[in-house]
This record gives sequence, C-alpha cells and structure tokens, in this order.
Amino acid sequence: MAAPMTAAPLVIAIDGPAAAGKGTLARRLAAHFGLPYLDTGLLYRAVARRVLDQGGDPADPAEAARAAQALSPGDLARGDLRTAAVDRAASAVAGQEAVRAALLAFQRDFASRGGAVLDGRDIGTVVLPAAPVKLFVTASLAARAERRWRERAAAPEERAQITADLAARDAEDAARTLAPLRPAADAVTLDTSALDADAAFAAALAIVLAVIAPQ
Ligand code: C5P
Repeated sequence: MAAPMTAAPLVIAIDGPAAAGKGTLARRLAAHFGLPYLDTGLLYRAVARRVLDQGGDPADPAEAARAAQALSPGDLARGDLRTAAVDRAASAVAGQEAVRAALLAFQRDFASRGGAVLDGRDIGTVVLPAAPVKLFVTASLAARAERRWRERAAAPEERAQITADLAARDAEDAARTLAPLRPAADAVTLDTSALDADAAFAAALAIVLAVIAPQ
C-alpha cells in the first residue's frame, strides 16, 4: 500500500521588477490560500528609511549594515516607506552584502512556519530556492510607470521622472552582483502589461494550481 501523502506547506515565491503588480498578486494569492504574506521590499525600504532618518548615506556599507541589524517590526509599519527618496535609498542598501545577510534569516524563518507567500527580487533565486511555486511577474516599463503614476496620484508632468526612476532602479537591481533581479530557472513568467488585477490574479492562480494540483 502506498504511504499516505502529507501535503507540504505551500510556499509561493514571487519576483519581478518594481510596479509589475507583484504585491497585489501576492496579497490575493495569500488570501486565497490562507497563507501569511511578506513584502520583502518593505524590509529594504525600512533599512533605507532608518539610514535617511539618521542623515546617513544609504551607499555607506557600515551605516546600512547598522540599520539592518537594528531593524524592528515597528519599522515595517511606518507610513513613509514609499517615497521616491526611499525608492532610491532602498535600492542602494539592497546592493550591500551585510544588509542582505542581516535580512535573510528573517525571510526564511517567515516562510518556514507553515507556508507563505513572499515577494521581492531574489525570493526564488536566493531566499527560497526550493520553493515549489515560483512566479516572475513582469510588465513593460510603460505599463509599470503608468501604474506607479496613478498609485502616487502624481501630476502629469511627473510621469517622465517616474518612468526614468523605475528604469534606473530596475537597471541597478538587475546589474548588482549580489542577488540580482532575474527569474529563477524554474520560475514561470507572467507578463501583466495587458492584464487588469483580476485577470492577473486568474492567470497567477492557474499557474499555482498547475504546479500544486496538476490535472
Ligand atoms: O519591491 P520594492 O520596490 O518595495 O523594493 C524596494 C527595493 O528593495 C528594490 O528596488 C530592491 O532594490 C530591493 N529589494 C531587493 N530584494 C528583495 C526585495 C526588494 O533587493 N527581495
């Protein structure tokens, strides 16, 4: 007789560039499967915020490392983590080894307590390389800039700057040596350029179900 199957906790790793719709998708998948959700970008944003608050330089490895080691849950709940200055500073601290090392255990621990959905840039490649489900969520630069512009309720003349900032941040995230932004070899890519939130969720759900409950 075959041994009874015990289902392993579901871990979904979602990566992709900024404003591709990862967060919305991750939140909806987490709610659908009753899993906790961690937005790992918030960790880097909170480290950056701490450095900026202290008048420090986010590119200084010692300052960034100190801020990462001192991070507390309250830092993640702050309402000022999504400004343009924090966008840039988060990318700068994220390229540093001591910062990534300080945040790694927290992310792995979060996922190991009975399943989770995590989104970021290196979840499928570095943080959870054994995750059974990996999605790489992307969209054209124009589509992502449009979303970010609406989300920030920015003035029409700010659109070009938002586009340039996104392109610069993606280039920096993809070019760094440590945990660069790239799809894991076994990730399924989902391009959300032409999809609204519901269509993107339906497509993502179909991908997850195909992995965990193949027909
Ligand atoms: O996802 P979000 O835009 O909030 O991430 C902010 C920055 O944090 C990214 O531009 C990237 O540099 C960094 N990040 C990272 N690895 C992750 C999540 C975010 O390097 N897993």
